Amino acid sequence: MKEAKVRLYVEHPLGAGQSIPLDRDQAHYLFGVMRLALGDQILVFNGTEGEWRAEVVKAGKRAGILACVKQTKPLQMPPDLWLIFAPIKKARTDFIVEKAAEMGAARILPVTTHFTNSERIRQDRLQAHAVEAAEQCGGTYVPEVTDLQKLDRLLADWPKDRQLMFCDEAEVGSAKRLGTVAGEKWAILIGPEGGFSDAERTRLHAHAQTHVVSLGPRILRADTASVAAMTLWQQALGDWQ
Ligand code: SAH
Repeated sequence: MKEAKVRLYVEHPLGAGQSIPLDRDQAHYLFGVMRLALGDQILVFNGTEGEWRAEVVKAGKRAGILACVKQTKPLQMPPDLWLIFAPIKKARTDFIVEKAAEMGAARILPVTTHFTNSERIRQDRLQAHAVEAAEQCGGTYVPEVTDLQKLDRLLADWPKDRQLMFCDEAEVGSAKRLGTVAGEKWAILIGPEGGFSDAERTRLHAHAQTHVVSLGPRILRADTASVAAMTLWQQALGDWQ
């Protein structure tokens, strides 16, 4: 019997004795790819009810059923941190979403900016990347990936109680760092390859919740900058402490 090693995200309620029907893709993954059989155990989570050990009670090519046995982890919510970024090339955008989920973002928000490279995203694909990242990193929560929206719109409706760590390439080499700022709710903003426009910069500076930050003496690519910024934030204010 295989011990619970595989982790699977399911969109189904979890609880002792609960049976979880598997769809075609899940059955293919568990029985075709991972070669699990009747009686084998896996770990399942649904983003709201923690992680559970579950046993295979029916295994078929196109379907199957798991039975929930016991909770192995409670739900662990990440800090209330949003990652706002302008989509770049497909593989790099995928990377940003995957890493944001691993690094503990609560919400991932792609935005179009004045110099955005890519005007379209596949929200469903990006959400699937966030799910896979949560499966892989032991998380019990899956950050929502929102649809593409305009940065200008997001800033126009900016919530008063959310601080904004604005990573501005114009600050390259400056000493601007994230201090210890009070506030539970945060967002990190990373620009596209083309950087921010002067109009965007002026607008961002006008927000009382904006904290301008330098990411060091070199210009980082947006994917690197996303990971670096989340590391700095987690270290200073997040759940790494
Ligand atoms: N084309 C721009 C660079 C854009 S880098 C230029 O040459 O000036 C992509 C994004 O990463 C930036 O918009 C910013 O959000 C972030 N970034 C990269 N390096 C940074 C740094 N040293 N300090 C602050 N933000 C940085």
